Amino acid sequence: MTSTRPRVELIPIFEDNYVFCLIDQDNQEVLVVDPGEAAKTSQFLKENNLKLKGVLLTHHHNDHIGGVSALVSEHPAPIFAPAKNKNQIGKADTWVTEGESVKLGPFNFEVLELPGHTLGHVAYWEPKLKWLFSGDVLFGLGCGRIFEGTYDQAYTSLQRFKKLPSETLVYCTHEYTEANLRFCKMLSNLDNSPITGDSEELEMYENQLLSRREMDLPSVPLKLAVELNVNPFLLAKSVSQFTYLRDLRNKQ
Ligand SMILES: [Zn+2]
Repeated sequence: MTSTRPRVELIPIFEDNYVFCLIDQDNQEVLVVDPGEAAKTSQFLKENNLKLKGVLLTHHHNDHIGGVSALVSEHPAPIFAPAKNKNQIGKADTWVTEGESVKLGPFNFEVLELPGHTLGHVAYWEPKLKWLFSGDVLFGLGCGRIFEGTYDQAYTSLQRFKKLPSETLVYCTHEYTEANLRFCKMLSNLDNSPITGDSEELEMYENQLLSRREMDLPSVPLKLAVELNVNPFLLAKSVSQFTYLRDLRNKQ
């Protein structure tokens, strides 16, 4: 029997978060990444007759974990969470660390520890499907704020994206791309701009982004190949360039 390729469904919650539902269509099973709230996710599972197979958490911020308890009480399933966030998250069935694999149904993830936004932040990388669930580390044309880690750690974490296959799809949790586009344009208008991406590619990016957002479609997943050419935080060549950009972005 040939198997159907799994697919990802995005559930928008709050102002600009996404909950990701990874659907194993052959078995009507689903994994949920970062359920910040439970009601919409639970409704989606019921409407689509999906059985929850597991919950993956990237970090301890409430807009990523707030719905976990309610979700698993209604749909019992194991929770996977970063070991370094044990104190903040409290309850999980498996605490994951760098290099570990998480096998669930047709999915086989590798855990990447990506400190910076928070110290315990992890991403889940599925090499066969070339999907990366990266929480708040990288955004469309931007990157996560540094709340707990150092600039050095955040810069190093971003360098790890460059080692992934360029056809990787990046599922980041927030719809920040339009705001980040404004930052990129401001950056390219600076006289002494240290870093600007491929301007033609950025223009194409802008056109696609605006037409998607006009139709109320998400800008996520991000195409890693494109981000590598236009995202200033991936183009930064040193920690000091990265620091300059991040500080400038914080002031916006
Ligand atoms: Zn966060």
